[in-house]
Amino acid sequence: MKIAILSQDATLYSTRRLREAGESLGHEVRTINYLRCYMNITAHKPAVFYNGKPLEDFDAVIPRIGASRTFYGTAVVRQFEVMGVFSANESQAISRSRDKLRCLQILAREGIGLPVTGFAHATQDIDGLIETVGGAPLVIKLLEGTQGIGVVLAETQQAAKSVIEAFRGLDANILVQEFIKEAKGADLRCLVVGGKVIAAMKRQGAPGEFRSNLHRGGEASAIKLTPEERSTAVRSAKATGLRVAGVDLLRSNHGPVVMEVNSSPGLEGIEKATAVDVAAKIIDFVVKSARSGKTRDRIQY
Ligand code: ADP
Ligand code: MG
Repeated sequence: MKIAILSQDATLYSTRRLREAGESLGHEVRTINYLRCYMNITAHKPAVFYNGKPLEDFDAVIPRIGASRTFYGTAVVRQFEVMGVFSANESQAISRSRDKLRCLQILAREGIGLPVTGFAHATQDIDGLIETVGGAPLVIKLLEGTQGIGVVLAETQQAAKSVIEAFRGLDANILVQEFIKEAKGADLRCLVVGGKVIAAMKRQGAPGEFRSNLHRGGEASAIKLTPEERSTAVRSAKATGLRVAGVDLLRSNHGPVVMEVNSSPGLEGIEKATAVDVAAKIIDFVVKSARSGKTRDRIQY
């Protein structure tokens, strides 16, 4: 099978592992920098061009779209979909999951456990906003943040007010959330592929840090999920339409709650912590799905 990995950098761990896994399973794999692709939008012969040549005969693409490149990256994925190429994650699902608010709204509609969450842009009623999540301590997030940057714990009402005012001054969209203290600075990353959790790790934040992000010094270890955690992860991936997803959960007093759903989950941390060959499992799933053609979606832009 001929597979393209859409990634800005062929040397990234995840990109490299996917290519190696594909090749060792006997497939032809190419890494394509989607930012360098250009496209023609025509009715009869849509195509994607790269280095002056059309990208032809691909059976499947695996998008690894950077958070800051969602707009152009999903356009390239969409073009492959129009050409009838199977994509590990559809462009629609990637866009949906990249918008944190939209994602939480969809999960809430499905009845999936979430921290109590409020959302605002330029409210004058800061006390009211804080009250919607039960007062301090609370977590305040910039909607556009990743890797834990722009996530603040406000321990008091006064601190919360100052942070919200400061964010409001930046003209940013903000999310306020009940602080899940009992998570003790840890979260669970569940890797869902084709409707199954294939690997899970616990990430523990550095001492004194409530954010568990590995980029913020968190440490990863393998973990066994409870059946409820497992089903929450699977349902979250399904609700957002992602076939390959990293679902982040916190262990709260009211059961597992979802933090976020990631469409290009990193492979390095989870492969090292769990010794699961995640890349091979993703390739396996993509090859089976592309062959059956069942899940290929040609119309859902
Ligand atoms: P990012 O997209 O930047 O990773 P997250 O929303 O995932 O932002 O938050 C980063 C980390 O901060 C989470 O992995 C979690 O450890 C911690 N965190 C975020 N929100 C809460 C919360 N409401 N209660 C407790 N911890 C939280
Ligand atoms: Mg996160």
